Amino acid sequence: MMKIDLTLTPIENHLEDPGWPLLIAGPCSAESEQQMLDTARQLKASRRVSCFRAGVWKPRTRPGAFEGVGEIGLEWLRSVKQETGLMTACEVATAEHARLAMRYGVDVLWVGARTSANPFSVQEIADTIRGCDVTVLVKNPVNPDLQLWIGALERVNRAGITRLGAIHRGFSAYEKIAFRNAPLWNIAIELKSACPGLPVICDPSHIAGARDLVPLIAQKALDLDMHGLMVEVHNNPDAAKSDAAQQLLPVDYARMIRELRLREASPRELPTLEGYRQEIDALDDGIMQRLARRMEFSRKIGEYKRENNLMVLQLSRWEDILHNRVAMGRAMGMDEGFVKKFLELVHEESINLQAEIMNGEE
Ligand code: PEP
Ligand code: MN
Repeated sequence: MMKIDLTLTPIENHLEDPGWPLLIAGPCSAESEQQMLDTARQLKASRRVSCFRAGVWKPRTRPGAFEGVGEIGLEWLRSVKQETGLMTACEVATAEHARLAMRYGVDVLWVGARTSANPFSVQEIADTIRGCDVTVLVKNPVNPDLQLWIGALERVNRAGITRLGAIHRGFSAYEKIAFRNAPLWNIAIELKSACPGLPVICDPSHIAGARDLVPLIAQKALDLDMHGLMVEVHNNPDAAKSDAAQQLLPVDYARMIRELRLREASPRELPTLEGYRQEIDALDDGIMQRLARRMEFSRKIGEYKRENNLMVLQLSRWEDILHNRVAMGRAMGMDEGFVKKFLELVHEESINLQAEIMNGEE
């Protein structure tokens, strides 16, 4: 893997215990000064936060959704900083956003996932903040393209920004998956190995999409030696104007952080083994998705058979499947017995499902 030479200086985490990861927390969107200050005060009291985040311009998939409060949100971020002493962070997507954020003294700018997929936008932002004293975090692009992610980091770094980091927030998936965004951890790991010394932070909120899953992802990120976490925290998550399902109450955030286990770096590095395990995890993820989708189609076929009063078992169809899948498996170097056993198990499950549908149990 090609190594990318970035010029880096450390990002201070300002925690009492410097052994802790960089912790960024705050609402998805700035909504009111009251919401910002209340959330920030509670976060500050948890003593487990380095930087307060809030989006003031929100990239929305469809028009008409809440698009952020705009410039006034930067005034509220300034109030948070004055009152709590926390560093502040917001997303910038255009040169104008970057200019305004710098004018209001925002400490950390992040480039959102939709923006980092667009080299023109990233370059425009980089040109605007050239030589400025600011920290920049670049989220992964929405599509799983490591080179595009690296390219965005390079553009910012070449503008003289050395307090630079990446945020892993997962990748869009068309198929139904367990999370809002597929983690594809191996891409974050590849980034770490391509850019030695680059802090890579995880955003478990946008990966999870549901508040109950956030701690699981956060722990996994720390287990993979991620440099920090960016977590969405809101003083009244259910009433949030964006990403309501995934935001945590400040008390729940504090509990999650308290309960996170910080692991020792292993004395003997096993990068190859770890890399292989990541590949296996990602592949299993894919197998599970495809299996679930296959069962969905079995169900549809079962319903069709019921409507048309067809026999559940269509022997010739099953024989064809077995024959050509086993041949495929053999061509791919897999044991025939293993492939057969696997297919039989899957077929049995489909037959059982369809028989239940036939008998109206489903
Ligand atoms: C956000 O952090 O609220 C956000 C919009 O993130 P992303 O760019 O990762 O979707
Ligand atoms: Mn969000």
